[in-house]
Amino acid sequence: MIIQDTTAWGLYPKRTADVVGIRQSKDLLPYLVKGESGIPRGNGRSYGDAALAPLIWHSLHRHHLLAFDATTGILTAEAGVLLQDILEFIVPKGWFLPVTPGTRYITLGGAVAADVHGKNHHSQGSFGDWVLEFHLLTEDGKIMVCSPTENSKLFYLTLGGMGLTGFILQVSFQLINPYSNCFYSSTKF
Ligand SMILES: Cc1cc2nc3c(=O)[nH]c(=O)nc-3n(C[C@H](O)[C@H](O)[C@H](O)COP(=O)(O)OP(=O)(O)OC[C@H]3O[C@@H](n4cnc5c(N)ncnc54)[C@H](O)[C@@H]3O)c2cc1C
Repeated sequence: MIIQDTTAWGLYPKRTADVVGIRQSKDLLPYLVKGESGIPRGNGRSYGDAALAPLIWHSLHRHHLLAFDATTGILTAEAGVLLQDILEFIVPKGWFLPVTPGTRYITLGGAVAADVHGKNHHSQGSFGDWVLEFHLLTEDGKIMVCSPTENSKLFYLTLGGMGLTGFILQVSFQLINPYSNCFYSSTKF
C-alpha cells in the first residue's frame, strides 16, 4: 500500500489515497472482509474523479495476456493490460481492436468499466458490445463469471458500471480482422 496524492487525467481533483495494487483476488479479500469501501482503478486516464477515493485498488499488476485464438480472434487478458500492449500483440497477427478510444494507454478493465467508444461508434457500438465474458470480484468476495447468458444482469450492469459492481479481474472479447468483410458487414447494428 502506498499513500499518495492521486489524480486522474484532468489533474483535478486531487485525493490523498491508499493505493493498493491487486495481483490476485486474495489481495482484495481482506478489505472486503472488513467491509472497507474503495474504488477500482486502471491507468487513471479517466478525466474526473471516476477512479478516485480514499482507498484505490489498481489493476496494473494484472497485465498478462491469457489466451488467444488466432482463428476466431477471441482474446482473453487480465484487466490491467493496456490497449497498447494488446495492439503490439495482435496487429502483427492481422487482428485489431473493435473499438479504439482516443488513447491507447487505458486498461482493458477501464475500457469495460467505462464502456468506451471510438470513432466507429455509429457502426460498431462501444467496447462492451464486443465483450464475451469477464470475471468479476464482487463485494461479497465471490468471483462471478459474467456473460450475456451467465449472470447477465451483472454483466450488463458492469459494462459502463464505472467500477461500482466490483473489480474486473479478466476479460474475454472479440477482436476484428480489418481485412475481412466481416468488419464492414457487421449485422450487430
Ligand atoms: C487522451 C484521452 C482520450 C480519450 N478518448 C476517449 C474516447 O475516444 N472514447 C472514450 O470512450 N473514452 C476516451 N477517453 C477516456 C478513457 O478511455 C476512459 O476514461 C477509460 O475508462 C480510462 O481507462 P483507465 O484504465 O485509465 O481507467 P481509470 O481511469 O483508472 O478508471 C476509469 C473507470 O473504470 C473503473 N475501472 C478501472 N479498472 C477497473 C477494474 N479492473 N474493475 C472495475 N472497474 C474498473 C474505475 O473505477 C473508473 O470508474 C480518453 C481519455 C484520454 C486521457
